[in-house]
Amino acid sequence: MKKISVIIPVYREAKNLPTLYERLTAVTSDIPRYSWEYVFVNDGSPDDSLAVLTSLAKKDKQCKVIDLSRNFGKEIAMTAGVHEAKGADAVICIDADLQHPPELVPELVSHWERGAEIVVTIRKKIDQQPPLRRLGSHIYYWLMSKISGLDMVSQTTDFRLYDKKVLQAFRLATERERMFRGIMDWLGFRKAYVEFSADARNDGDVGYSYRKLVKLAVGSITSFSLWPLRLTGYLGIVITTISGLLLAWMLLNYLLHSSWVYTPLAMVVVANTFLIGIVLMAIGLVALYVGNIHTEVINRPLYIVRERINLDS
Ligand code: UDP
Ligand code: MG
Repeated sequence: MKKISVIIPVYREAKNLPTLYERLTAVTSDIPRYSWEYVFVNDGSPDDSLAVLTSLAKKDKQCKVIDLSRNFGKEIAMTAGVHEAKGADAVICIDADLQHPPELVPELVSHWERGAEIVVTIRKKIDQQPPLRRLGSHIYYWLMSKISGLDMVSQTTDFRLYDKKVLQAFRLATERERMFRGIMDWLGFRKAYVEFSADARNDGDVGYSYRKLVKLAVGSITSFSLWPLRLTGYLGIVITTISGLLLAWMLLNYLLHSSWVYTPLAMVVVANTFLIGIVLMAIGLVALYVGNIHTEVINRPLYIVRERINLDS
């Protein structure tokens, strides 16, 4: 019998977990032709998520728990789940906050059975998502597809099914500054898309603050290409051209009228400010890349597991 692992990153989700478990088991018990396991990755939750998970794991041997030693962030938590779910023929990643309806699982599985290697869900509308966040997400996807040359569809979610072949390839990716979906998109493979409308969060606040989201976006953009660095170069060219033309115009005026129309000091100050701006931006960008290189080079393990329940290491 083929095995499907459901990977669930958990951070402050104690109240959502029982409902999630019920809805998941209700759905998966309708597909008995596969053996199912649920791999909960507790990402250093400060609430009693771990206690809830431990009691679930005691009751039901299908529930596995990976307890990370601290909060590593969702991307790493999902990576840990995928790395540890060995022997699965497919993996389904799903959020614990019930924004990803488990009732969609049969549809994901049927696409997989018909030959898709990655089944991607797209949310049609996001209830209660602030406009700033929605705008940010659109800009991010537009930028990422432009930069990476990959086909990244806007509004796709982490709620996805991955075939064994994809997982094997994914395990080869070693970068630390990672965006789970970004790496998966980079891998290629045959994709299928499923649409759904997202529910508002069931309980608690979104774990991703704007600060974390911006960090994720910047991290994934710089780890995917040198495009920002090139952009600074272009900007430099444009600014130099403009200030050069301005300078020429000034000199021409001087020759024609044989007097300064603009004070030379003003011109110098403006030109200088532009140049200083370019230099500062370039330094900022270089710092980003050096930061990336730094984290890659120290080569620490991606995550630390405190304890595994129902799961052999
Ligand atoms: N999550 C996590 N670690 C974190 C933040 C979130 O494992 O540091 C989990 C969280 O429990 C949930 C999923 O990632 O299952 C999505 O989190 P959230 O709903 O906060 O983010 P969003 O819906 O905005 O993507
Ligand atoms: Mg959510």
